[in-house]
Amino acid sequence: MRYAVISDIHGNVDALQAVLKDIERRAVDSIICLGDIVGYYPDPEACVKLVNGNVSHAVAGNHDYAAIGKIDTQNFTYYAFAAMEWTKRNLSARAKEYLASLSLAGEIEDMYYTHSSPSNPQDFTYVFPDSEVAIFEAFNSLDHRLNFIGHTHWPSIMLQDQDKIMLYTDHCVEIAQKYYYLINVGSVGQPRNFDPRSCYAIYDTMASEVTLIHVEYDFKVTQKKVIENNLPAFLADRLQKGR
Ligand code: ZN
Repeated sequence: MRYAVISDIHGNVDALQAVLKDIERRAVDSIICLGDIVGYYPDPEACVKLVNGNVSHAVAGNHDYAAIGKIDTQNFTYYAFAAMEWTKRNLSARAKEYLASLSLAGEIEDMYYTHSSPSNPQDFTYVFPDSEVAIFEAFNSLDHRLNFIGHTHWPSIMLQDQDKIMLYTDHCVEIAQKYYYLINVGSVGQPRNFDPRSCYAIYDTMASEVTLIHVEYDFKVTQKKVIENNLPAFLADRLQKGR
C-alpha cells in the first residue's frame, strides 16, 4: 500500500489541487488528511469538497473545530481570528457537517495520526523540532511505530532509539522495526519552513519507507484572491516567503 498524508490545507485550493495532482501520478492507494482543511485562505468550501471526495481517512485540526464553533478562537492570532470569522461566513451547512464528523485521532495498520501532538490531541499542542518538552511528551505517549502529525507547518522526521530522540535531516527514511517515528508532514496551504512549496508525505508499506515531498504551485493566484476577498494582506505575503 502507498499512503499519501496531507495536512494544513487552510482553504488554499490552488495548493491542494497541485498536491492532489502530484499524488495522482505517484500511484497512491489511499490519502489521509491530518486536518486544518479550512482557515486563512479564501476557498474553504472547495477544499472541504475536495478532501471529502479524495481522502479516505481524515481527522480534525483546531481551525476545523473553530469553524463549527466546537472550540473558541481566544488563542488565535489576529490574522487567524479575522480569517476564521470570514471562513465561518463562507462555509455551507454541508461543509460544516463534514467538519463536525471528524474526530481527533485515527489508526490504520501500524500508523497513528493526529493533527497536533499524539499525547493529547484535544489540547492542540505544537511539536516543533526544538520544543524539547513537547517532543518528550509526544514520544512517551506512543503505542504505534509510525505517528503522523501536522499543526506546526514545519516538515520533520524524528525517531526514538531507546532513550535517544533524533531529528532526521534527510527527507526520506527507511522505517526500522526497532524505532518509534514522529513524522510531521508539513503544510499544503501555508508552509512556514522558509520554502513556499506545499509539502506532504508518502508512506510505502512494501518498501517500508516514508518520503516528504515538496510541490510547487502558483501562489500568486491565491495571493490575488486573498486581497480580492479583503482577507489580511499578511496572509498573502507569507505565501511567497514560506513562513
Ligand atoms: Zn494549521
